[in-house]
Amino acid sequence: MGDDGSIPVDANFEEQLRSAVKVAELPSLLPAVAHLTGNHEILRDELRPGVHPTPLGLEPQGGLSSEAQELGRASAFRALLEWHRAGRPAAPEYRPDELRPLMEFVTGPVDADYLSLFLGQLGVDANGPGWALEDVRPDREFRVVVIGAGMSGLAAAHRLDEAGVPFTVLERNADVGGVWLENDYPGCQLDTSNFCYSYSFAQHARWQYQYSRRDSILEYFRDFADTQSLRRHIRFRSEVSAATFDEGEGIWRLTVRDTVDGSVHTIEAHAVISAVGQLNRPAFPATPGRESFAGDSWHTARWNHEVDLSGKKVAVVGTGASAFQVVPEIAEKAEHVVLFQRTPPWIMPTPNYHAELAPGLRWLLREIPGYHRWFRFLQFWVGVEGRRRYALVDPAWDKPGSVSEDNYSLRCALESYLEGEFDDRPDLLAHVVPDYPPYAKRMLRDDGRWAATLKRDDVELVTESLTEITPQGLVTADGRRHEVDVIIYGTGFRASEFLVPMEVAGRGGVRLHDIWDGEPRANVGITVPGFPNLFLLYGPNTNLVVNGSIVLFSEAEVDYVMACLRRLLEADAHTIDCRPDALESFYERVDAASAAMAFGVKGVHNWYKSSSGRVSQNWPLSTLEFWQRTREPDPSEYILHRAE
Ligand code: NAP
Repeated sequence: MGDDGSIPVDANFEEQLRSAVKVAELPSLLPAVAHLTGNHEILRDELRPGVHPTPLGLEPQGGLSSEAQELGRASAFRALLEWHRAGRPAAPEYRPDELRPLMEFVTGPVDADYLSLFLGQLGVDANGPGWALEDVRPDREFRVVVIGAGMSGLAAAHRLDEAGVPFTVLERNADVGGVWLENDYPGCQLDTSNFCYSYSFAQHARWQYQYSRRDSILEYFRDFADTQSLRRHIRFRSEVSAATFDEGEGIWRLTVRDTVDGSVHTIEAHAVISAVGQLNRPAFPATPGRESFAGDSWHTARWNHEVDLSGKKVAVVGTGASAFQVVPEIAEKAEHVVLFQRTPPWIMPTPNYHAELAPGLRWLLREIPGYHRWFRFLQFWVGVEGRRRYALVDPAWDKPGSVSEDNYSLRCALESYLEGEFDDRPDLLAHVVPDYPPYAKRMLRDDGRWAATLKRDDVELVTESLTEITPQGLVTADGRRHEVDVIIYGTGFRASEFLVPMEVAGRGGVRLHDIWDGEPRANVGITVPGFPNLFLLYGPNTNLVVNGSIVLFSEAEVDYVMACLRRLLEADAHTIDCRPDALESFYERVDAASAAMAFGVKGVHNWYKSSSGRVSQNWPLSTLEFWQRTREPDPSEYILHRAE
């Protein structure tokens, strides 16, 4: 320690800093350094990144010239070295409005409405639900049941815990994690950035990959449940089969089956939060004869680890997100893979899809406090509204396979990628370019592995449609018989059948699935008229395709539920119920907006739509609008009722 309290420059630190800054992505490093060191002068205008992405995504250095980059790196290096020499002081305290210029350095000038969303995503304003039961209604018995301990359920549990509201989580599996627990197929990993696929209120800098493997995401949720002491509230192996509202008493009764011994019991709750997810009930093709297959077969989400695929002939049905990750992995093992493709996916070139984060970046994330927040913030911003324009329909646009000029420019860029990948295999190229517009279905990510896999001698791509499954294998429309040992179904999920197989009965015994009748709808995706004190997380029209992140949306939905509960308790009411007209006006807006998105256009088949063709899964509007709608329930949309 020097006389002035500073620590001597550690030559090792200086060297490491120099090499890390040399390769750092400046659009996130510069505001991080300014935030930490208080030196805002480094955020000069000429270093302001242009983060608006190209059709293929963000340019890592935000389009800065090499001179500007040089200047930015030198400034960041000097500021960080001084900070280190000064004993690595903590970042100065900022008022929220003082952070705005730093955030706008990344985003450019934005509407003030974005501020609270930004602060939450930066993780500096994650102060919990803002109320506690003991302050609002200390004398009131009030108990909540959360169904599901996946990503959304754990977020709800955390906020209920913070508010001191007694609650129980019922989880049918033996552990937390939801889809990340259930999906353990080979190659399972994120195809969105892990920095954003983590809670804003539980950010960390330790990710090894940008697109993490399944095990580390599952570990994140397990760790979250442990560090927040949430497991004591969770009853594992407890499957809810029915939920019935008792109007007289204003409570919900849930029928719960113990999945180990099959015993059934009832639990009562004043409010129920369903966090059962959209993508967990496997869908299988209706191809005749499926049950007759004599070999082993399974769905990607129910992987059979007992069967060794080495030396086997394996069929994979589907080329969606799951199969896309499975096939390159099992091709390494199986003797032969036959891949049945009905519709090819659009693929976003992503060179770092399987790569670990660069050592310099990991060093910065580890050594520079708060840097991970800015790294996440930049990705969040680009993902939030940055890509939405590529999916918006221009009604005057008439080029087939695209819905607007932006969408067409994206299409051309993606097509060029495929042409490059398959330039030596015109036979395959003819089958891998989709005819539908980009973003009409889920976009997948690739670093060259897909083409390399399809070109293997032991992998065959079949594009004829399936007509029959026999004891020996699969038959296609051209009459070919594909004899295999194993069939793997990567055929997705029954996504629009929200809450199935639970029997949910609201006021007057009305059944939720009867009133939905195949068209699931909920106000803000969360509340359904006639089903008081029932809240849905990741409910109808809350899935994300181009803008936002599903974790952000679940957090926002939980905020909304907590605000509804606070309102109910403050009013000393027993029920809060959505007005039917609120649902109608919500859907006037949502349905019109869905029709104006690439995934809503007629003629495109995807899992975002119900059987009638209406988009029942996705949020078609801006992230900001969802964020604003979920800050507080609009009092005019709800009826609070007090039991006499
Ligand atoms: P999916 O996207 O619904 O894909 C199902 C695939 O099966 C499609 O290629 C579909 O073809 C095909 N298919 C269905 N029935 C068929 C039939 N009778 N004959 C031939 N092919 C048939 O399901 P998924 O791949 O499991 O993914 C579902 C969602 O889960 C994703 O969109 C994503 O949101 C999520 N997911 C995320 C990750 C991740 O983050 N890493 C990984 C996996 C899944 P058509 O396109 O013609 O219908």
